[in-house]
Amino acid sequence: MADMTSELKDWRFSVDGEGIAWAIFDREGESANSLGRRPIEELAAIVERVEADARAGRVNGLVIMSGKEKSFIVGADIREFESFETEAQVIESLKPVNAMLDRIERLPVPVVAAIHGVCVGGGLELILACHYRIATRDDATRVGFPEVKLGIFPGFNGTARSIKQVGPIAAMQNMLTGAMIRASTAKALGFLDQLVNSPGELHWAARKAVLQKRKSQPAGFTKVLMTKQPARGLLAKKMREETTKKAREDHYPAPFRLIDLFEKHGGNLDTMKVEETKAFAPLMVSETSRNLRRVFRLTELLKNQAPKKMTWKPQRVHVIGAGTMGADIAGVCVAAGMEVTLQDISAEQLEKGIKAQGRLFAKKFKTKAQKDAAKTRFIADPEGKGIARADVIIEAIVEKLDIKQKLFADLETKVKPGAVLATNTSSLKLADIAAPMKDPGRLIGLHFFSPVPQMPLVEVVQGEATREEEVKKGAAFVVAIGKFPLITKDVPGFLVNKVLTPYMFAAFERLEKGEDKEKIDEAVRTFGMPMGPIELADSVGLDVCLHVAKILGGGGTEGSRLERLVSSGRLGKKTGEGFYVWKDGKPVRGEVKWSKAELEKLGRELVEPIVTEAQKALDEDVVASADLVDAGMIFGTGFAPFRGGPLHYKATQDKSAPPKQSAAAE
Ligand code: NAD
Repeated sequence: MADMTSELKDWRFSVDGEGIAWAIFDREGESANSLGRRPIEELAAIVERVEADARAGRVNGLVIMSGKEKSFIVGADIREFESFETEAQVIESLKPVNAMLDRIERLPVPVVAAIHGVCVGGGLELILACHYRIATRDDATRVGFPEVKLGIFPGFNGTARSIKQVGPIAAMQNMLTGAMIRASTAKALGFLDQLVNSPGELHWAARKAVLQKRKSQPAGFTKVLMTKQPARGLLAKKMREETTKKAREDHYPAPFRLIDLFEKHGGNLDTMKVEETKAFAPLMVSETSRNLRRVFRLTELLKNQAPKKMTWKPQRVHVIGAGTMGADIAGVCVAAGMEVTLQDISAEQLEKGIKAQGRLFAKKFKTKAQKDAAKTRFIADPEGKGIARADVIIEAIVEKLDIKQKLFADLETKVKPGAVLATNTSSLKLADIAAPMKDPGRLIGLHFFSPVPQMPLVEVVQGEATREEEVKKGAAFVVAIGKFPLITKDVPGFLVNKVLTPYMFAAFERLEKGEDKEKIDEAVRTFGMPMGPIELADSVGLDVCLHVAKILGGGGTEGSRLERLVSSGRLGKKTGEGFYVWKDGKPVRGEVKWSKAELEKLGRELVEPIVTEAQKALDEDVVASADLVDAGMIFGTGFAPFRGGPLHYKATQDKSAPPKQSAAAE
């Protein structure tokens, strides 16, 4: 093959005066590097050239780096996955990639990967084929195998190479969980060989590694022993048990097929490579993986609701109300790097709310300096001094119209021009709250879900009078705190609670008619929800449910079990008893005593109201598209991701044409 390295588009290639070849991955027209067909072909051309030059003594080594400032390689290009219809096509597409990685591994000169930023999926598989791996200690540098989240597992021979490099326990655990690990942990495990302090040091360190012919040490004897029988079989059994606790095999087969692969072939890594491809192909073309890839695209769709280029950058946030919601909202903003003032009429509540964020900061920040900086950014502000300086003001006080009205009419006179004014109300109409304001057009809703740190979605509510620009700013703020915005109309319940409420009522109604609560919950979990409706009601709080029932449901609750439980003070998880008795944060349950078929049938019936209401919400333009309805229900309620969302599920059930979809999620 002729030397193609002068015609590269996604890579830059050069050989320096010391005979070191530099391959810089900088995908044309993209903000991040993904391993698509063209970059892989170009890398193959680079490898071919280095092979020839090394043989001729013109090249002493190869360094692979990224030309993107913030990331190394974000994985394979999942947009190209959609072109595969058959297993044979998948297998054909993997052949040249795996052949190229083998050639990298066999190059007679040192091959060094120098990494800053995210290096995951196919990116991690690529560096595992290199001889030595250097990375920055930076917090942005992460390695991991997120494939299971897309319903597959590593397919560029990363299963075998990671086991060879770090041993079966660390390799399998990372592939099974999809965790993104920090550079220091990755080095301790053996995924990386050397760390440097900053991206500026990578070049020099890589040069030195080539000249000194450094070579990574694969997993040692004791780890290799774990790939032999009987250890391998025992490990596989344990992994299966652990995985079963987290996912159902019929919903999420990928981790189970990975364990099978390890159990059968983990003792011979050459065979494992071949078998990896065979086991990978059916997963890639499965409905589950298609739907999980769709979910991934839906996250992009949600984020794209915020303008990409905006000069307005939220840095200071003022939160009013340090209760369940306000304190956590403030904590999440601090964790995202913002400066936050938190206000409450109760000094005790304020102190409690701030203290409660310690857990979030401990999880988010690893160094003392980072934790201290977070505490400095988090200010108790009983008098509301931060209001005048804040870019975003979020109200999360009691759900009382007159109190909120008074607050916003007052806030309006104190905030700086351009600041976003937001309410976290869940049941009041924005137009009503804004009625006494001079400029009602500036009020938006920022409807967070509880528990705030865990829930990825925030509904950005546009009231009748709300200006478009304020909504855009709201969406940009939500993205800036690392969550997904969903722009919704100001209808009761917005999107998520509007769609969820009839489903909850239908479940309560079945309970009234004598259906077993555990059967209801198990049936819904069998369908694929993370939690059944009765357990959900107990978790949210039965008082909250009753309140919502009265607002959204229009009665029908008098004398019900729900009302009786609330009036007797049994409010669910928070009081230790509701529909269930709660022990150690979990509902006490009996054995599952129903057949799978019975549960599947009931599960489908129970979620039917979600599907019906989702369609209604679309017809009423509560959000802009069917994909956004699905995205809202997946990220707001955990609607079975592998089913692709309620409307997508309905379309596949009907076997009719899928609902009108926006181009982004096609
Ligand atoms: P909460 O009762 O836990 O907290 C409210 C806090 O506001 C209390 O600490 C109280 O002292 C303080 N407060 C009351 N009036 C105040 C005032 N004038 N100025 C300053 N502080 C004041 O309530 P919560 O559950 O956090 O709910 C707050 C808001 O968030 C409500 O509008 C609610 O509808 C909404 N919301 C709640 C949830 C949820 O699951 N709890 C979910 C989404 C939205």
